[in-house]
Amino acid sequence: MSDLHSGRVVVVGSFNVDHVWALPALPRPGETLAGRYHTGPGGKGFNQATAAARAGAATSFVCALGEDAGGQLARALAAGDGIDLRDLRSDEPTGTAGIYVDADGRNTIVIGPGANAELSPAFVGEHSQALARARVVLTQLETPVESAEAAFALARAAGALTVLNPAPADAIASGALWALADVITPNETEFCAQLQRHADMRLDPDALAGLADAELHAHCRRLLPHGSVVITLGKSGCFVSHADGALRGDAQACYRVAAAAVRAVDTTGAGDAFNGALAASLARGGDAAFAEHVAYANRYAGLSTERAGAAASMPRDAELKARFG
Ligand code: ADP
Repeated sequence: MSDLHSGRVVVVGSFNVDHVWALPALPRPGETLAGRYHTGPGGKGFNQATAAARAGAATSFVCALGEDAGGQLARALAAGDGIDLRDLRSDEPTGTAGIYVDADGRNTIVIGPGANAELSPAFVGEHSQALARARVVLTQLETPVESAEAAFALARAAGALTVLNPAPADAIASGALWALADVITPNETEFCAQLQRHADMRLDPDALAGLADAELHAHCRRLLPHGSVVITLGKSGCFVSHADGALRGDAQACYRVAAAAVRAVDTTGAGDAFNGALAASLARGGDAAFAEHVAYANRYAGLSTERAGAAASMPRDAELKARFG
């Protein structure tokens, strides 16, 4: 089957080795605490690529890795999931994240971008053939914005759909990247952060889920006038808003999708699960309306919360079918 028929997803983004400490409380300056430690793969790009691959899409992952144990881990895991890895070999160490989690599930995160900061537009350009074969190109804001712009420009030229997950919330998405995004997928915090940045409007993330649909739709239209906005709302599912005249096969310009009924034990990486699965489903294409792809992503992300971990917790398409039909 050719890539076009199988619907290739290309993810451009970060890989991190996560170092996680579970602690009774978050450490204060000068304090030394003992906690339970574990390490594992992470980074929004890698989590999303893993989700796309396990959701059944032929997936390429364009990233930057160090020549160290972290880089070897990424290469081994990508091979295990059948991901076509396009890695820039950097002299910098592979990206790392130090994560403290307290007894209430609150966290403090320190990122060492390392190699991730080295992902260059030139390297993305070297993989223009892979990008030209994509049906969906997905990126985030943990790698340089110029590389994301380069990927989206190539995707657009090849007629692929561009999906931007504008995360983390404190990262700046350039106006150029914004203009090249067909679909954006912020969570509540990211939505409010980008609304302030791109539409100069202040909104409280905690108030978002309670807004009337028409009001939320109006905010989405201000934020991305030309494209579709999918706000993920945690256990409240998600909200979709399309531009006038670009409903992507949907009957309505805005609607909500309720979360899947699951027993959530760990929501780390739920947003990444949602993005990878949405890209995979959109790449499968067919006659399905956008709402069906969003519903798939919603079920997929819900199921991912039933297991601990980020990339490790991504379910397979067959598990989803077995669970939800
Ligand atoms: P992020 O991880 O980026 O903060 P969210 O918390 O909004 O993202 O979660 C992303 C998606 O994961 C939601 O839209 C939903 O589909 C699913 N999800 C998250 N938490 C739950 C939950 N408790 N029950 C069911 N689904 C959930």
